[in-house]
Amino acid sequence: MERREFFSSFTRPFRREERRTPIYPPYFHSREDFERCLDCSDKSCEKVCEEGIIEIVDGIPILNFSRSGCTFCDECARACELAVLKVEEKRFLPAMVIDPIECLAWHGTICSSCRDACLDRAIEFVGLFRPEIKGNCTGCGFCVGVCPTGAISVGRVE
Ligand code: SF4
Ligand code: SF4
Ligand code: SF4
Repeated sequence: MERREFFSSFTRPFRREERRTPIYPPYFHSREDFERCLDCSDKSCEKVCEEGIIEIVDGIPILNFSRSGCTFCDECARACELAVLKVEEKRFLPAMVIDPIECLAWHGTICSSCRDACLDRAIEFVGLFRPEIKGNCTGCGFCVGVCPTGAISVGRVE
């Protein structure tokens, strides 16, 4: 892939479930480091991910939360031979947001699939029908794939 094509891939729209901003495994220093992934033939990060959420898109590892969520297990960083991912760069992922227009609960239907999937108890319902994501969201993504309407997506990316 040409250099210009590589950088434009960061802004290219993704399939429906990842139409949002692409999210990378939570162990990188800067996005530009992923250029080195183009020289990696083994793609070990994808192979070792216990949740199967690392998907190689145009040579770059991207998290696909439609499959599952990230346990922050460090395995992808340990397996990365080119040190694009490093355990010492471990960070939280960008917090999620719920789109009230797409959320069933916000339209009066009983649904709490996202809250049930959140081990961090970061989704709080105001009354019965207004789920909101709180400040302790780690961005793990476990709530994304369980939402029947795809109402949950990555919020602001630094
Ligand atoms: S930290 Fe673990 S679960 Fe998360 S992307 Fe890396 S290998 Fe997968
Ligand atoms: S799972 Fe989706 S539709 Fe259900 S309450 Fe959560 S955000 Fe709304
Ligand atoms: S709301 Fe909970 S399940 Fe969803 S990304 Fe945040 S911490 Fe993970």
